[in-house]
Amino acid sequence: MSRYKEEQCRICRREGQKLFLKGSRCYTDKCAISRRNYAPGEHGQKKAKLSEYGIQLREKQKTKAFYGVRENQFRKYFEMASAKKGITGENLLVLLESRLDNVVYRLGYGSSRPQARLLVNHGLFEVNGRKVSIPSYLVKPGDVVKVRENKKDKKVLKENIEVNASRPMPAWLERNPEDLSGKVVRLASRADVDIPVEEHLIVELYSK
Ligand code: SF4
Repeated sequence: MSRYKEEQCRICRREGQKLFLKGSRCYTDKCAISRRNYAPGEHGQKKAKLSEYGIQLREKQKTKAFYGVRENQFRKYFEMASAKKGITGENLLVLLESRLDNVVYRLGYGSSRPQARLLVNHGLFEVNGRKVSIPSYLVKPGDVVKVRENKKDKKVLKENIEVNASRPMPAWLERNPEDLSGKVVRLASRADVDIPVEEHLIVELYSK
């Protein structure tokens, strides 16, 4: 477990910013970015000037890390985003926001996206009354995401609900703490995405 945690902080250090991969620890002075805000490794403290390609690549890697998505899947999201009407970069972010693990995190039932992903994997949630254990499941407007009845007593959920009670809810989601559920009021829009990403760089990278 400690190795797993270390790897997550190394990702943040490589990207030079907090990606909030470890829940409440990310908000304390134990955060590795607060203590060592330079890339890991022997030459981490040397700031190399990035090429245009390097800047685009880092933006993609950072976005993948935020949402915990592997290259193949990220590429698929890009293709889906390109096929939709509208601005490809914005479509891409909306798709990423629509992932079930992200929704569970946004609703405050997971302390971080990686933890939310695990909780979904372990079958703690249902969508519209049916168990869904696929973190990449894409929610739609009107969907109701809910903790399954026989999982409501899980300690980790109780802790998350308590810690995240005051976390601001995005306008596209509605949380109902009474029955541990949340409703997707509408799809996220670009304005709802609060992560520091310049999605046009990702589009430029994939368009080469
Ligand atoms: Fe580690 Fe969280 Fe800080 Fe990232 S934001 S370095 S995951 S503690």
